[in-house]
Amino acid sequence: MINMPLEKPQHRIAVLADQCVQCGLCLPVCPTYGLDGNEAESPRGRIALAAALARGQVSASPSLREPIDHCLGCLNCQRICPAGVQYEELLIETRGLLGPAPDRPGLLLGVVKRPTLNRWLQRLARWTGAMRWVPAVLAGKTASSWRAALSLLPRPSKLSPATPVSQRAPDLGMVTLFPGCAASVQDAEAEHAAELLLRAAGYRVTRLPAFCCGALDLHDGAVADADRAAEQVRRAWSGAQADRLITITPGCLSTLRRALPGVRVDDPYALLAEHLDRLAFRSLPLRVVLHVPCTQANVARSDEALVRLLKRIPNLELKRLSAPPYCCGAAGSHVLQFPDRADRLRDDVLAHITRLDAQLVLSSNIGCRLHLAAGLAEHASTPPTLHPLTLLAQQLDIR
Ligand code: SF4
Ligand code: SF4
Repeated sequence: MINMPLEKPQHRIAVLADQCVQCGLCLPVCPTYGLDGNEAESPRGRIALAAALARGQVSASPSLREPIDHCLGCLNCQRICPAGVQYEELLIETRGLLGPAPDRPGLLLGVVKRPTLNRWLQRLARWTGAMRWVPAVLAGKTASSWRAALSLLPRPSKLSPATPVSQRAPDLGMVTLFPGCAASVQDAEAEHAAELLLRAAGYRVTRLPAFCCGALDLHDGAVADADRAAEQVRRAWSGAQADRLITITPGCLSTLRRALPGVRVDDPYALLAEHLDRLAFRSLPLRVVLHVPCTQANVARSDEALVRLLKRIPNLELKRLSAPPYCCGAAGSHVLQFPDRADRLRDDVLAHITRLDAQLVLSSNIGCRLHLAAGLAEHASTPPTLHPLTLLAQQLDIR
């Protein structure tokens, strides 16, 4: 880790970019390079553009910012880089320097980031019958942020709710759940499932209020909004009195860790996998395909723990999509800002799911799951999608 002086962002970007030895090993794992075959849309190309911008050799023109805006923040490049380039840091600094893109869908993101407003608008849409117009809008083929947002509305789960479980001794300590923004509305079932599984393993569980961690703003260059969100995270955590903070959304993980240096912030899979002896599951004869979101593979690094947990469900036929570069294209606000590119990135993932003949698709990130569900809904045989925690809690054998 480079020790960053509190200097101008231009200096920090130049220092970060200088770590790149331009070996090109990151190019084959970059989904946008795979999509466009263009050096500017590769990690090495973006690093070179950021360095040139920071040194004042180029201006912040639309053609400079376009490939930087297209970056998914998947961090496949960071994970593979032999020189240890801190690509995420460089991306955040560069986007902060450029500021939010002019075509950023700010109104939509404003709804996504406000759980109460989001929930209220969805209720209103159901109550007024406005939801019946959604299929007609989705039938149109023109890609737009609004069409993408409507396609991401959740489809109801057909699985039965998990049964509540009481605290199991011995006590493994206190953890606090971070409900997030979109996840607290669209993934409430999975958050309940996380609580239930953690209690069954022996943890005491509390929750923070639902609000946005700032990941969307941080990755879009909205620095002031991201700073405000980080402050809200610190305030909420200061009253938590827990050993660690848990999120069920891997996309929030690095932003929460950044806001709370020194605090253990994780997803629940490693904690649960450490106590497999306390968790028994009922049989489920089903062919399930696991999609591992890029942030789960590259930040949480909890995919192996999740696989160990799922393999405890007797008769579950678990198939896994290839490791990255299989990015589905959701990537925070990317699916709303570049719906056409997001659909093209998703095509490979959908084709793979179809080849594996999935009866159920699992993914831990709410954005990925809704984006995949929207793509699957356009196909004749549509397997349902679910958060892995919801499936695990549903199959939990409580005796
Ligand atoms: S792998 Fe690392 S050092 Fe090599 S080109 Fe990519 S970012 Fe630069
Ligand atoms: S974060 Fe992902 S999309 Fe962006 S440059 Fe790296 S590999 Fe490519």
